[in-house]
Amino acid sequence: MNDDLREQGPRRVGQVKEVTSLSNPIVKDIKALSLKKARDETKSFMAEGLKLVIDALDLGWTVKILVYSKAGRGKPLVEKIAARTVAAGGLVLEVSDKVMSAITRRDNPQMVAGVFEQRFRALKDVQLGKDETWVALDRVRDPGNLGTIIRTADAAGASGVILIGDCTDPFSLETVRATMGSLFAVPLVKTSVEEFVRWKAKCGGQVVATHLAGAVDYRTIDYKRKPVVVLMGNEQSGLPDELAREADALARIPQAGRADSLNLAVATGVMLFETRRHLLTLGEAK
Ligand code: SAM
Repeated sequence: MNDDLREQGPRRVGQVKEVTSLSNPIVKDIKALSLKKARDETKSFMAEGLKLVIDALDLGWTVKILVYSKAGRGKPLVEKIAARTVAAGGLVLEVSDKVMSAITRRDNPQMVAGVFEQRFRALKDVQLGKDETWVALDRVRDPGNLGTIIRTADAAGASGVILIGDCTDPFSLETVRATMGSLFAVPLVKTSVEEFVRWKAKCGGQVVATHLAGAVDYRTIDYKRKPVVVLMGNEQSGLPDELAREADALARIPQAGRADSLNLAVATGVMLFETRRHLLTLGEAK
């Protein structure tokens, strides 16, 4: 694995490289980020799109490697983020269309992609403030669901997403794409059932768990009383008893029609916007 993806102590001076070969070792390493093993080893991930990379930089993330295709050469915004990357000690690659397609696994790739360092917050450092809402997901499996939930959490003004147990990787290409950039704005926590249960006892918030057997209509809960943790179950098996019994309320979204349940991301969206209804106004729209 190339040193450019590894933390090497003090940052070295950045540089710009022109790359056209698929066998270039840095290109190979970036391509390997489509595999969880390589992402875990390097604690890195890739995100595509000029706006997304600009937003990430503005939110304080550091680009380890910035990649842009030849079409980006001379474009003021691309030059600007390239300069910011170099100034921060990152590497900038100007690549051929063929290389960009291979890195992003797309026929019509974006002009820009960035390799970033993964970030997780420790659960013990999460202190619930007034009006805060967190989402906790039990073993979420579908990358598209997770990405959509992170995006929705961002849009609803939630403070972060807690991943409990064996969840899909939030830094996979599919999840990152589905977040549409919200990944950079929403803190993520990875934890176990046991640690979540211990944290819950002292967190000072109310855990509203959603369950198809929930006895409480989700619209009748007082979400203003305390900070809220909205706890959602796994796509296939729902919420296990060990988590359901931690809930201060077991909420259900009433349904009509033939569907057994709502899609996890849709149910999370419904819950989040109800939880934060009193806090959201059109005046805050961007
Ligand atoms: N077969 C699963 C079950 O029995 O729970 C269905 C899980 S559902 C696809 C995924 C998650 O979305 C559920 O665990 C729950 O958290 C939430 N959910 C979906 N529809 C819901 C509803 N009508 N009321 C409350 N929660 C719901």
